[in-house]
Amino acid sequence: MAAGRVEKVVTRFPPEPNGYLHIGHAKSICLNFGLAREFGGECNLRFDDTNPAKEEQEYIEAIKQDVQWLGFQWAGEVRYASSYFDQFYQWAIHLIEQGKAYVCDLTAEQASEYRGWATKPGKESPFRNRSVAENLALFEKMKQGEFDDGFCVLRAKIDMASPNMNLRDPILYRIRKQSHHQTGDKWCIYPSYDFAHGQGDAIEGVTHSICTLEFQDHRPLYEWFIENLPVPSTPRQYEFGRLNINYTVTSKRNLKQLVDDQIVAGWDDPRMPTISGMRRRGVTAAALRSFCDGLAVAKTDGVVDIAQLEFEIRKDLNENATRAMCVLNPLKVSITNAPDAVEWLDVANHPQQESMGQRSVPFTKEIFIDVADFTEDTSLSRKKFKRLVMGDYVRLRGAYVIKADDVVKNDQGEVIEVIASLVEDTVGKNPPPEIKPRGVIHWVSATQGKQVELRMYDRLFKAQAPGKATGNYLDDVNPDSLKIITAIAEPATVDCEPETAYQFEREGYFVSDRYDHSANAPVFNLTISLKETLDK
Ligand code: ATP
Ligand code: MG
Ligand code: MG
Repeated sequence: MAAGRVEKVVTRFPPEPNGYLHIGHAKSICLNFGLAREFGGECNLRFDDTNPAKEEQEYIEAIKQDVQWLGFQWAGEVRYASSYFDQFYQWAIHLIEQGKAYVCDLTAEQASEYRGWATKPGKESPFRNRSVAENLALFEKMKQGEFDDGFCVLRAKIDMASPNMNLRDPILYRIRKQSHHQTGDKWCIYPSYDFAHGQGDAIEGVTHSICTLEFQDHRPLYEWFIENLPVPSTPRQYEFGRLNINYTVTSKRNLKQLVDDQIVAGWDDPRMPTISGMRRRGVTAAALRSFCDGLAVAKTDGVVDIAQLEFEIRKDLNENATRAMCVLNPLKVSITNAPDAVEWLDVANHPQQESMGQRSVPFTKEIFIDVADFTEDTSLSRKKFKRLVMGDYVRLRGAYVIKADDVVKNDQGEVIEVIASLVEDTVGKNPPPEIKPRGVIHWVSATQGKQVELRMYDRLFKAQAPGKATGNYLDDVNPDSLKIITAIAEPATVDCEPETAYQFEREGYFVSDRYDHSANAPVFNLTISLKETLDK
């Protein structure tokens, strides 16, 4: 192996199973798996499970699913830092034997005082000069459960005067009398993140250990362990900026609070910036990958505009979503000269992609159009109102040109029905030159259409930087982030599998709900509007 070069690139994605993955993790996944793919290497999935307190099996399962859904496959079996606990323990003993680690009985408070701060050198612990034999005996007792939580810790003996706080005798092992989701009650001492991470990398032959910038100051410690332990390989740590996005929060702690406080329905609520939430919302894996691949791998933590993600979502859905018609606020239109029988019309599933085929749409005497697509106001210019106006023509998407002849009103004077007539022989054909439809509107058969539940999602936060004004991000939660409505869709749409993407023409991109949708009880989630809206 030539100096500075490695035979094969091996990376790893190392989530702690203490929550669901969010969009920041998506960037890390795309980077780690992407690098391995680009250089013909491998990427491991390793659960960084050294702190049993907040970890759960549920999170492990969700994380595995999310990585695969994003389109990546880890090399071999899933790995767990906890599988290396025996080895880590042996290496801790190795450091003790070398006089490079000691058991320290300072309380957490005392230890922090002894550590000093960046500009003030620390003081050496009075336990620093215990003999190797005494340290070995005490560490064994720690392992045997003879001390209570927090009674003592194992520390590396490095340099209490180092300007780098991480080198001031960092903790290697803590006592934690807690069952672990993988190792059960085998251990009551657990290694610190720093003592586990690089050594895990070395065991797996990871060449590039990529982490976020806050670990930059840990790199000397990472290297100290690699140099001072008989590890089987020499991984290197590289740092990159965390991804932050406006109008949302990306920290598992905050996301967990949204779930625990029932501000959202769960980790995979479609409003959540979690991978599973975005998936349920109808964001495609391809859009998410394009977004991540388009981000700079910078040495600073930046805030990325959510519009960049929305652009990728619209681009992908515009190309790939099936078109269909769905009326959100129905207004009945009776077409006096339509035949009594249902007429089935073939309509293309996509305006550009012929390969997406076509569907049969039932046309009937009574149809629904959207309330907003009709007006009695004949003074509105053709340019301003490209929809149905009393006495004028409009084309029904994929069907006839119709004309509004009359209206029926209720006691309050509101229009409850439009009486119209169709222009013969205008399906897929232009009307005679003297008839100029104002535009094209969507519609659904009143008798053949199906009722569907639409979950109209909006941003979860009203502010660009949630919590910036008051210090509490919960103050910026948007109270109107979900409205549920009933709409009428053309019948073919409801027979889809869950997670099918549609563009409901002129309304937005929707997806059939991953869990709640069925043909008998159709449920669609609003993924995103058709066009960018200005910030509210
Ligand atoms: P959180 O603060 O949300 O808990 P974390 O870094 O503690 O984040 P981990 O489960 O340890 O979460 O993260 C696994 C990997 O994903 C790490 O390598 C981490 O650096 C990376 N990662 C986490 N959040 C982001 C982010 N916002 N941007 C880029 N990478 C991230
Ligand atoms: Mg972490
Ligand atoms: Mg964390």
